[in-house]
Amino acid sequence: MTPNQTLSNYINGEWCDPNATEFLTISNPATADILGKVPLSPASEVDRAAQAAAKAFKTWRRVPATDRVQYLFKLKVLLDENFEEISQTITQECGKTLAEARGEMRRAIENVEVACGIPILMQGYNSEDIAKGIDEMMIRQPLGVTAMITPFNFPGMIPFWFMPYAIACGNTCIIKPSERVPLTMQKVFHLLEQTGLPNGVVNLVNGAKAVVDAILEHPAIRSVSFVGSTPIAKYVYTQAAANGKRAQCQGGAKNPVIVLPDADIEMTTRIMADSAFGCAGQRCLAASIAITIGDAQKPFTDSIAEAARSRKVGYGLESGTQMGPVITAQSKARIERLIQQGEAEGATVLVDGRQPEISGYENGYFVRPTILQDVNPAGEIARTEIFGPVLSLMHFETIDQAITLINSGQYGNMACLFTSSGAAARKFRYEAEAGNIGINIGVAAPMAFFPFSGWKESFFGDLHGQGHQAIEFFTQTKVVIERWQDWTRQF
Ligand code: NAD
Repeated sequence: MTPNQTLSNYINGEWCDPNATEFLTISNPATADILGKVPLSPASEVDRAAQAAAKAFKTWRRVPATDRVQYLFKLKVLLDENFEEISQTITQECGKTLAEARGEMRRAIENVEVACGIPILMQGYNSEDIAKGIDEMMIRQPLGVTAMITPFNFPGMIPFWFMPYAIACGNTCIIKPSERVPLTMQKVFHLLEQTGLPNGVVNLVNGAKAVVDAILEHPAIRSVSFVGSTPIAKYVYTQAAANGKRAQCQGGAKNPVIVLPDADIEMTTRIMADSAFGCAGQRCLAASIAITIGDAQKPFTDSIAEAARSRKVGYGLESGTQMGPVITAQSKARIERLIQQGEAEGATVLVDGRQPEISGYENGYFVRPTILQDVNPAGEIARTEIFGPVLSLMHFETIDQAITLINSGQYGNMACLFTSSGAAARKFRYEAEAGNIGINIGVAAPMAFFPFSGWKESFFGDLHGQGHQAIEFFTQTKVVIERWQDWTRQF
């Protein structure tokens, strides 16, 4: 790509220029260099994609599952062969370190591998002789055209929580990547093209709100898979439901972690620093509140402060970098404003990462790791998703007080506990109101064969992405009851 080059859409097996009148520049958040332009496609592009996908569905659903997965086997090989190039693209447009980008692509590929099991995963079940000579069976059939709308923070992985399962089940799909990081899917679609998938099975439409609204309104689109912030997740869920579509909408988070006095502080610090500051805090599973209990307060506070101060911040493509920039200048300004608000609400800025000097990258959108101490549990900052490398410290005397605080929060994406007590771990796992739980784990990201289980305002819907739940989401059940009057006849 050159700065003046414009991305294309991929519709019905062809790369095409949308009839866009508006474009956004794509920039490298570490350098502010312009990487290209993304078209903000109009609704008519969604219509073209939906019509192509609806037409393709008629024949794709008849391709046997064992043949459908052959395309996914090819895709896995292509993703492995192009692994390094795609990972570098993620770092360039999203800012995370190359190691983090590689981890993201590993999970993407893992989802393709799991979806290759569709011939057995989408089987139904049956009962013979539910009455004399009558059999009953449940079969799973694909929905039709499906759509995926994804956020900026995992441009390579998140579309793979849905797309491989959707097409393996016999659906066709339209992906709308985040307009802030559209280059990664552009590369992935060049690989999808090489798999030889029939035209119209996978389609890419670049853009922003107009594309999302057109997806939500299009009568041919049967389901919407969304990942992004909570207000937009709620909006997409509501509109999808109003238009009779299935929806699974993953939203924002504010992830609390409890550190008990019996935790291994050295290990806890290492894991917590990666959780809070990895990907510059722009993970929906980033630890954002650390609650120390009893005697854990001083050793953990001292060691996490040291870890924050010593983290190497810079360009993600340079070796040794442990943390990259945040996504935009606006995001940096917002994070720095929220740090100030935390201070105004009574917190102490123990480690201040605002306005850092990153040598050689003076134009980048950097915020260094920041620690707010004595954050007011009743304040705004204790509830707002900061989505930057900022860890808030709180302290309680008992685990019960901490669990009560956790369960009073609006989000339920992840909650973690650090301890060496099995009894404390079981109590926490049992009582904490979050869908992804970590015990001595800082980023409890489910493997591809488990559902990504957000709760409360972190998820709107019934069936999550990945694994068995993805297969249920992308299929509809049909029950057949059969009687053959002459079945005992001699042939
Ligand atoms: P976002 O909500 O701004 O954007 C997500 C998608 O929605 C994008 O494709 C965008 O084009 C579209 N969009 C944005 N505004 C819209 C509007 N007004 N109307 C219709 N569509 C709109 O989210 P983001 O900033 O790209 O991503 C960060 C957020 O995503 C964070 O809140 C993070 O916690 C969340 N997230 C959640 C998970 C999860 O699994 N729960 C995973 C990753 C990210």
